[in-house]
Amino acid sequence: KDISAAAIRQTYLDYFIKEREHAFIRSSPVIPFCDPTVPFVNAGMNQFKTIFLGSQVPHYTKVANSQKCIRVGGKHNDINIVGKDGYHHTFFEMLGNWSFGDYFKEKACEMAWELLTTVYKIPPSRLYITYFGGDDHLGLPCDIETRDIWKSLGVPNNRLLPFKAKDNFWEMGITGPCGPCTEIHFDHMGVINRHEFVNKNLHDLTEIWNLVFIQFNRLPDGSIVPLPRNHVDTGLGLERLCCALQGKLSTYNTDLFDYLIKAIHKNCSEIQKYSGKFGEQDWNEIDTSYRILADHIRMLTVCLADGVIPEQNQKLKRVLRKCFILCETVFKKDGTLVKELSNYVVENLGGVYPELERNISQIHNIIDYELEVFNTIRTTAKKDWRKFSIGRNLPNIDSLDITPSFVKAYKELYDVKLNEIDGELAYRLYDTHGFDLEAIEQLAQILNVKFDAVTFETKMEEVKLNSRAKRQLFIDDKIANLLGEGFEKTDDSFKYSYSKNKDKYQF
Ligand code: ATP
Ligand code: MG
Ligand code: MG
Ligand code: MG
Repeated sequence: KDISAAAIRQTYLDYFIKEREHAFIRSSPVIPFCDPTVPFVNAGMNQFKTIFLGSQVPHYTKVANSQKCIRVGGKHNDINIVGKDGYHHTFFEMLGNWSFGDYFKEKACEMAWELLTTVYKIPPSRLYITYFGGDDHLGLPCDIETRDIWKSLGVPNNRLLPFKAKDNFWEMGITGPCGPCTEIHFDHMGVINRHEFVNKNLHDLTEIWNLVFIQFNRLPDGSIVPLPRNHVDTGLGLERLCCALQGKLSTYNTDLFDYLIKAIHKNCSEIQKYSGKFGEQDWNEIDTSYRILADHIRMLTVCLADGVIPEQNQKLKRVLRKCFILCETVFKKDGTLVKELSNYVVENLGGVYPELERNISQIHNIIDYELEVFNTIRTTAKKDWRKFSIGRNLPNIDSLDITPSFVKAYKELYDVKLNEIDGELAYRLYDTHGFDLEAIEQLAQILNVKFDAVTFETKMEEVKLNSRAKRQLFIDDKIANLLGEGFEKTDDSFKYSYSKNKDKYQF
């Protein structure tokens, strides 16, 4: 019988908390109260950012936790990969341990190695290690120290691989704390040496753990200077670790997902089963849809429990609507399936994140509300579309998230001979029709014209960053009550206060 995700998570926490004297800090909500530069909390370190920046004194110097992370939008946007591979998710849990000016490279590597190879008993022949090999562009030399630490732990040369800044130098932002990182990759095959495939996006040779050594500060003039204290920040993806330890081809076959895949099939038994295969020839739309739906249901359930409101958060609203549409078009059910499936997530993760159970009626109410709005809007949009199709040969829009204003914009642009939706038009769509990135992308898709989404999003993020930074100051009491214990309201913002109760980590 496979070791369960719950046992894997608990083993990690026990190792650092009981064996290595780390304090447990509970997961922060996925709303980035401490950091207006990200759309969601996307790593365990977000809640500790002010400690690295030196503006907050830590209550503990060694901490560990499992953090709810979401990578939708912003610099680490994985939404477009989800479903197309077996290891990137919109929502995932990041196990992490930190040293705030306490231990550094040697101890961090030694503990990671012991945990993986002795406690979890992963054969070293399944692991590859990457380290920072220096980068002329940054003017920084190779991190020889880290390389030699791994050597002394017994990692052979052909499994110890240098990479440049893109893969092995971590920076918080344009300025601020930064440093080299070392990453641990897991080979699902483990038959022959495959070092040349590390960092090549293979689904059977994936990165599992990133250990960042925060030892520099990047100044506004671009120069990099040493920090007065060295810190460690690590992140180990729970889903990927489970995939490795449970010997599965993808995270969707682990017990963090398979109950959802089964629940989808149970509710839609006329649809073919999830094949679980990952060969290129096995690729099919139904499997991809199973993966997207299972992934998104976890993401939206967690977001709703943390008080993210779809009407205020376009990214969450998109994910929710994508689920409604998948239920309709692929699984031949209506959107009420989404609410049904959210119950399974609460059951699977509620013991670890009690806010899921506490806020279950809120999760349901918001899904009901959003579904009602979605259905109304979609009915009108489809009617408009049908009317406009008469005498015209229009594409099928069933799988698109259309609204009446979307149809209106399409009608306006239909006879214009466009080559692309350029920045100016995109901005007009955003400003006057309220289009977000996805809506513009979908419009470009059905008009069959080009659209440079990346450039547009970068521009828009800059604009939004300012307003988001301001909005952070006005979080009302309703949300404060929702977040409950663990939060302190200060004059102008929320500050996470550490849970001093060590027993709390006993899930
Ligand atoms: P990748 O290169 O696979 O996209 P990453 O380098 O972006 O991963 P990090 O920012 O280093 O990831 O985060 C630390 C760990 O979190 C990763 O080693 C991985 O185990 C996990 N992780 C990152 N992104 C995801 C995701 N989208 N879904 C699941 N786990 C993830
Ligand atoms: Mg990534
Ligand atoms: Mg990576
Ligand atoms: Mg990484």
